[in-house]
Amino acid sequence: MPKAQETLLEIDLGALAHNYKTIRSRIGADVKFMAVIKAYAYGNDSVAIAKKLEELGADYFAVAYTEEGVRLREAGITTPILILHPQIPGFERIIEHCLEPSLYSDRILKEFINLAEEKKQKDYPVHLKFNTGMNRLGFTEENYKAAVERLSNTNSVKVASAFSHLAASEDWKEREFSLRQINTFRNIAYSLAEKLEYEPLLHICNTSAIFNYPEAAFNMVRTGIGLYGFSNDENIDKDLKPVGTLKSVISQIQELKEGDTVGYNREFKAVQPTRSATLPLGHADGIDRKYGKSNAGVFVNGQYAPIIGNVCMDIIMIDVTDIDCEEGDEVIIFGGPQHPVKFAEAGGTISYELITGISQRVKRVIIPE
Ligand SMILES: *Cc1c(COP(=O)(O)O)cnc(C)c1O
Repeated sequence: MPKAQETLLEIDLGALAHNYKTIRSRIGADVKFMAVIKAYAYGNDSVAIAKKLEELGADYFAVAYTEEGVRLREAGITTPILILHPQIPGFERIIEHCLEPSLYSDRILKEFINLAEEKKQKDYPVHLKFNTGMNRLGFTEENYKAAVERLSNTNSVKVASAFSHLAASEDWKEREFSLRQINTFRNIAYSLAEKLEYEPLLHICNTSAIFNYPEAAFNMVRTGIGLYGFSNDENIDKDLKPVGTLKSVISQIQELKEGDTVGYNREFKAVQPTRSATLPLGHADGIDRKYGKSNAGVFVNGQYAPIIGNVCMDIIMIDVTDIDCEEGDEVIIFGGPQHPVKFAEAGGTISYELITGISQRVKRVIIPE
């Protein structure tokens, strides 16, 4: 790669392919692979990522909201797409673009069936979401029977899958709770199949669950974060490769005398002669204010440089006093010498929030496999 001359998020499709194959190898050959590519494929680039995953053979995609799915269809993606959290105003668009809604409450189910009937659909694929303890979305073991009743009274829709979500699949201290969720899901799923008289696909595992509860893979797994190179487990992270590398450039260098200050509110004070470098990215690009005040740092020519003072909207400053560097040099925020998880932790957050937070203003550069 040529050195970055501006702020760039490099997206390594080779790393994506590596992660896909690594996770694939951990699940049975008959288990389907649903790639979760919501939120711009976790801040990467949903279309480029979807195209690569389609080529690699992903069986299903999942996004959170309807318009994310529409965007993929408009880019020519033909793989089935589950919409995890659809809202009623998007239902027409769902049918128009052959997207598959998760139906998670009686209100949503009733409304979707009404529309499917009005549009003279037959066996339109829908997915039933069950709440087994996360208490976020879904029918419960107590209240799902009314949903089955509605489904039995129409042939406009057909349940392509039934699924649930684990609240703490990465947390070994919550193992008992997770096993209980899996068990509840199994009970619901089997009684559902009996009532429907056909067998929907079943799925409950996200990335961490694929590694921690392989016995719960059922017919399909849903992987998001793992595809982008993280697993919530340091040991497994070693087998995965971060897909995104955030780079920037030194715009300008300031020579500070003892007593000089840097940035808003004069947060950084030089206690000795200091060189500070100014970079073209800030909190509007996803570098939260928590990364400032020397909590986190970046890499310049292989050396660590703390982010000093307050993070500005479009700019951060770093201390390069002891680093051999000049204006125009490349800076690595995360990826390469700095694992994104380490950077996220320095800012008091997790990989998910860091990578999905890199704003759309940052130019994406796709590196083919
Ligand atoms: C986001 C999401 C996933 C993906 O989880 P990862 O931990 O990123 O693998 C799976 N299922 C549901 C319901 C989700 O919302």
